[in-house]
Amino acid sequence: MTVQSADPALYPHALSESTVKTLRRPLFGHVIEGETVPALDGATMPVIDPATGIRTATAAAGTSDDVTAAVRSARTAFDDGRWRLLAPLEKERRLRRLAALLAERADLFGEIDVIDAGLLRGYTTFVVDGAVAGVEYYAGWPTKLHGTIPAVPSEFAVYEMREPIGVIGMIMPWNGPTFVLGFVAAALAAGNAVVLKPAEQTPLSAVLMAELALEAGIPPGVFNVVQGLGETVGAALVTAPEVDAVSFTGSVATGSAIQAAAAARVKRVSLELGGKSAFIVFPDADLEAAATSAAMGVWGASGQVCTAATRVLAHRDIRDEFVSLVLDRSRDLRLGSGFDPATQMGPVVSADQLARVQSYVDIGRAEGAELVLGGERHGDVGFFHQPTVFTGVRNDMRIAREEIFGPVMSVLDFGSEDEAYAIANDSDYGLAAGVWTENLSLAHRASRALRTGTVWVNTYQMVYPTVPYGGVKLSGHGRALGAAALDDLTVPKSVWMKVGS
Ligand code: ADP
Repeated sequence: MTVQSADPALYPHALSESTVKTLRRPLFGHVIEGETVPALDGATMPVIDPATGIRTATAAAGTSDDVTAAVRSARTAFDDGRWRLLAPLEKERRLRRLAALLAERADLFGEIDVIDAGLLRGYTTFVVDGAVAGVEYYAGWPTKLHGTIPAVPSEFAVYEMREPIGVIGMIMPWNGPTFVLGFVAAALAAGNAVVLKPAEQTPLSAVLMAELALEAGIPPGVFNVVQGLGETVGAALVTAPEVDAVSFTGSVATGSAIQAAAAARVKRVSLELGGKSAFIVFPDADLEAAATSAAMGVWGASGQVCTAATRVLAHRDIRDEFVSLVLDRSRDLRLGSGFDPATQMGPVVSADQLARVQSYVDIGRAEGAELVLGGERHGDVGFFHQPTVFTGVRNDMRIAREEIFGPVMSVLDFGSEDEAYAIANDSDYGLAAGVWTENLSLAHRASRALRTGTVWVNTYQMVYPTVPYGGVKLSGHGRALGAAALDDLTVPKSVWMKVGS
């Protein structure tokens, strides 16, 4: 890795003025009680652009002391009611302002995410638009969160309120940094205070988000950010006694460790843990459309999306034709900077991630799968890997079972409908699945048969803020987006009153 310069003026892409100005900041610190601050001990970590290997910025590297300060601030903000007790309409106004501010600065956030995560600029437009939509959607909720009046014997009156949980520790990954603002907005709409720990690979936009929230009128302390490594800062956030619940998106190993650590204080945990999504192509499908979708479904964000279509199940009758259509769409993909409009696939996020992808390609080869495309690192600058396709994959191979989080597609085949479901469901994961068929009854049968949190039929990777997103099995149990997310962010309280004898 070449660490060249932290000066954005030497940065090789033409950036907007606001991005250049932002990158001139000497430090991307924590945001605690409305102030952007360095780590208490002054420690820092470099921020590396995955497309160039260049160090573009410096972030604070926190310790458990910084977590304590951030959590204390959020706890106080929650307890004194500076946000929680604000009138519902006022909460809505401020959240709408937050959405409007994000929309106004879409270029800044889009460019920052390209630099931080190596995503394509077009993809970060989708990420930022998704965040704006998420904040707009949850901005409408404070006036609509209401309780119920249960039926009880006549000498009593009971009402059930829906209260915020308290301080939510949010630990997030690096594959769509600004998208996280929609999740934060959900927690805030429910009246909670948030301490966000972004991934150490992508610390930049979290600072800007918290500053934006302050500008929108979200009071100081209600949305704090603490930077640093997972094993230190993330782990301290999970166990901090004053954090009431943890919302985590990331790997199974980390999610499982977080759930275990949170159990010591019986904390509520919401987990979104990735997948190995089956993309099932039946013989009557529109093969051209399915092939385009499969290619986008795995090369998009270089395969670093939880719902990536990494396990393609093609019916034997159309397998060869389908694979050839996928290869046509994948062979000449242009790899490069996310800022170049001609680029079709960017790098993976880090040197570690590249090494992980390479190790899985070796595993696939050793397992006897047939490598029909790619298989190598691309170039020697940044962290690029060729789009890679294995055919002849069996479902017991590790490349069919484990989440690689890189541009590697495994193609399996099947003969009957039941066999397709059996293969698709024979997975530790259960996040999402794609079904391609023109047969309506088959589409319904498949949607019922697949054990996943989402099924997409003749489309793939659609998200909309009204629609819950999350998994079953090792893909986790929380729901982001939709009204369902608010169930994870509120707690019912029952109030009994004796009104007669
Ligand atoms: P990845 O392998 O994709 O980086 P992780 O699940 O390790 O996925 O990381 C997702 C998020 O979890 C990041 O913000 C990371 O810092 C954090 N994290 C990693 N390890 C821990 C841990 N032991 N406790 C809490 N958070 C962690």
